[in-house]
Amino acid sequence: MENKFLPPRSIGNLAESIAMTYETTVTPLKQILEDEEIPYAEDDYGNAFDGMTVYDNSFFIHLNTSRGNHIDTPRGRFTMAHELAHCIIENHRKGIISGKLKPHPSKTNQSFHYRLEREADFFASCLLMPEFRFLKECLGKPFNFDLTKHISDTFQVSLTAAALRFALIGTHPIIVIYSKGFGIEWYFPSNDFPFKSLLDGKDSIPINTLMSDFFKDGKRYDEIVEIEAQDWFKIYRPQDNGRAFYEKCIYGPDGVISIIWEE
Ligand SMILES: [Zn+2]
Repeated sequence: MENKFLPPRSIGNLAESIAMTYETTVTPLKQILEDEEIPYAEDDYGNAFDGMTVYDNSFFIHLNTSRGNHIDTPRGRFTMAHELAHCIIENHRKGIISGKLKPHPSKTNQSFHYRLEREADFFASCLLMPEFRFLKECLGKPFNFDLTKHISDTFQVSLTAAALRFALIGTHPIIVIYSKGFGIEWYFPSNDFPFKSLLDGKDSIPINTLMSDFFKDGKRYDEIVEIEAQDWFKIYRPQDNGRAFYEKCIYGPDGVISIIWEE
């Protein structure tokens, strides 16, 4: 199954109401940290985590530069927005202050199983890409990989963050799939994406896919490749056999993301 848990809308509203008090399209995280009076530090902590929030009478956020997290990089911005969630969402904040929510090393894209981490990721996504501003960038444009790039440039977020936000509120059905090489970590289809079940579930990466080529032979595709529905998905109707889709892979330090869409 795909990951069903969607954090409460109220968390998104909270994040967006903060973002919309600032005029810039690129959410000014430094300014927010200043306004919330939360100091932070960038440092090299090895490969242990992307970001971490600690509390000792006041909040303090660590960004791990050795994994590419700076306040101005797309990866670091998402990490920072995630950590800000822990300082701002009421039950996270209370949990950290009371010690019930332990300081935890957050890793981008790898936290889908944990409810609070999902909430913090959702907060981050809404803080960096408020729906109103996001849709303004998408309306009237057909989905293709260039639009993902446009969103990523416009909001200074990673391609993955842009694609996931598009799957949730975008104007065209897509699916985003993530693997670290052993099976599928998670996948997220738009509500109106025509296929909801992967060919082998989450157990393995289907062999006729770009993603599989990478983990098998290290082969990378810079280009968008045309694929057929049955390469990735369980199909139940004969007319879906051969139905054309496009796939684009994004190769990152922690695995591969596939974005798939139909024209
Ligand atoms: Zn976290």
